[in-house]
Amino acid sequence: MVLLELLSGLGLKVNPEAIPLLERLVNELLRWNRSRNLTAITDHDEVLEKHLVDSLTLLPFARQARRLLDIGSGAGFPALPLKIACPELAVVSVDAVGKKIDFQRHIVRILELQGFTALHGRIEQLQEQPGYRAGFDLVTARALCGLADLLPLAEPFLASGGRLVAMKGPEGRQEFTALRERLQEEGWSASLHSLKLPLSGAERCLVELCR
Ligand code: SAH
Repeated sequence: MVLLELLSGLGLKVNPEAIPLLERLVNELLRWNRSRNLTAITDHDEVLEKHLVDSLTLLPFARQARRLLDIGSGAGFPALPLKIACPELAVVSVDAVGKKIDFQRHIVRILELQGFTALHGRIEQLQEQPGYRAGFDLVTARALCGLADLLPLAEPFLASGGRLVAMKGPEGRQEFTALRERLQEEGWSASLHSLKLPLSGAERCLVELCR
């Protein structure tokens, strides 16, 4: 399956120069996964759709941002595809599991990505360190935790006017509705974007929050 076609089905465009780099990322992930069990998805087309295309649904947000923090990025999703598609974006990517961060650093090395920092540790620890608080105009988290738990983890990192985007499956809709009142009380402006992935038809919800 051709990545460009999958992306254009969702109205997403990437620079043609990014395509071979994105394909290299897929191949390296499949290769590492055989010995190191980095992600549950091991089929080539499924990696294309569920890791690459899904991550790149955030392109419209990433293109408006200068500095991205991706919390609980695992093997680098959405952080790595966004960095490859938006080379100017400065990225900090954090995960608690060392082998996943090792993979991200491997990709940074072989693709010679500049301005991508993969940090091994828990996000709670990063809040204490200088240079990170209020330092990001985009904070993302895919499949990390419920929205209610995500807010206190992510908020300290948002710059004034910055945006938090939580990437969720269909459960995002209920979480969004359940939290709506609290979000309003706390002064968040919130919107829900729902979309279907092009091969499987799986539903995804992007919950966008800013204040
Ligand atoms: N975002 C990736 C991984 C999702 S799985 C993807 O969508 O493919 C959730 C990840 O969050 C795991 O890799 C886990 O190690 C990491 N994680 C969970 N709690 C964390 C915390 N408090 N700080 C940093 N990483 C955390």
